[in-house]
Amino acid sequence: MAFFVDIFRGICYNFTAPKQAEKLGARLQDGGEHMTIWNPWHGCRKISPGCKNCYVYRRDESVGRDASQVNKTQDYTLPLKKNRQGGYKITAQNGTVFTCMTSDFFLDTADEWRDGCWDMIRQRSDLEFHIITKRIDRFLQCIPDDWGEGWDNVTICCTCEDKERAEYRLPIFMEVPIKHRQIISEPMLEEIDIEKYLRTGLIEQVTCGGESGDEARCCDFRWVKELRRQCIRCGVPFYFKQTGAKFIKDGRLYHIERKLQMAQAERSGYSYYPNTGSADRIRYVLPERKNLIDRLARSDFRSKFRLTDKDKLYIESKGMDVIRSHAQDFVKKRLAPENPENDGKQTPMRGHPVFVAQHASACCCRGCLEKWHNIPSGKVLNDAEQNYIVDVLMDWIERHRE
Ligand code: SF4
Repeated sequence: MAFFVDIFRGICYNFTAPKQAEKLGARLQDGGEHMTIWNPWHGCRKISPGCKNCYVYRRDESVGRDASQVNKTQDYTLPLKKNRQGGYKITAQNGTVFTCMTSDFFLDTADEWRDGCWDMIRQRSDLEFHIITKRIDRFLQCIPDDWGEGWDNVTICCTCEDKERAEYRLPIFMEVPIKHRQIISEPMLEEIDIEKYLRTGLIEQVTCGGESGDEARCCDFRWVKELRRQCIRCGVPFYFKQTGAKFIKDGRLYHIERKLQMAQAERSGYSYYPNTGSADRIRYVLPERKNLIDRLARSDFRSKFRLTDKDKLYIESKGMDVIRSHAQDFVKKRLAPENPENDGKQTPMRGHPVFVAQHASACCCRGCLEKWHNIPSGKVLNDAEQNYIVDVLMDWIERHRE
């Protein structure tokens, strides 16, 4: 009997039962969106660590085919193919056209075929084409003469699986003329910091996910959450597409079946769409208070905070009720919004006893609230969450005011 534990909700499914989990996985395999895949050629050459376990190679190997041989496919002219009524086979109702999913659109071997594709993309301005590439450094030599600042119906998705690829590819990606840009970190191989690119306002979405397959490398949920926080701070939509086969959460390694990797990511609720309440779906448990105090005491940084004599006099003169009302006010204005202004730097180190308590008890910004208190970033804090934080702060002040 095989069991699947929903690692984000603590629910256990039994695979031999009516397969609720499998059904869920199947429903989510396509990410819930309509899409068309157009592979004008097939086959590719590996160029970076993300290619190590490339699914094109894995699939081809399983049928005795050599994925390093690049060939034009019968689908080369797919966007122009007609149905019996004389209309186009593919229409806008078929959704986004994901282009070159079993190769790389900017692969040099395909140079002689690419202009034909641009012609078709130009003719089908009613369709939206997404092109995912690891070869953004070949972009300028591959675009058509009339590309200008980019075409409205083309989104270019630059992938960066690790820090080195992010540092090399993203500066190029930001410079070249493109109307619609997305960043993809999949397979995500380590934590990446791309916030400076997100701050430009030129990135329309970030997608990340772990690696699938028998040889998959691990993906750590901490990397996913960190990338998500960068997106939240910059107001960029974030799509957590899949966990991958080996997923680390809270230091524990989970092996996840292929058919459930997207389902698990979806159920985590960690995709983020600004101002939609998307993060309200995230389930979490507040830390037990005694445990929290012990952990904070073990932190060199947190445990060094003390109230000054001036702070103590201030508390004495105002009274604890007034201090509580100040704490409520600070929490409401500086922490509770979905994307607080200047998040990470909104709490001064001194100047009010509540500020000191915020740093000492890790209630100073949304990143610390997520890390220490499990309260997810990217959601508007409700009354219960605000009250919890105020209680933590007042508890710390009470214990340190003498
Ligand atoms: S660029 Fe993409 S398709 Fe080509 S080898 Fe790498 S992962 Fe595979």
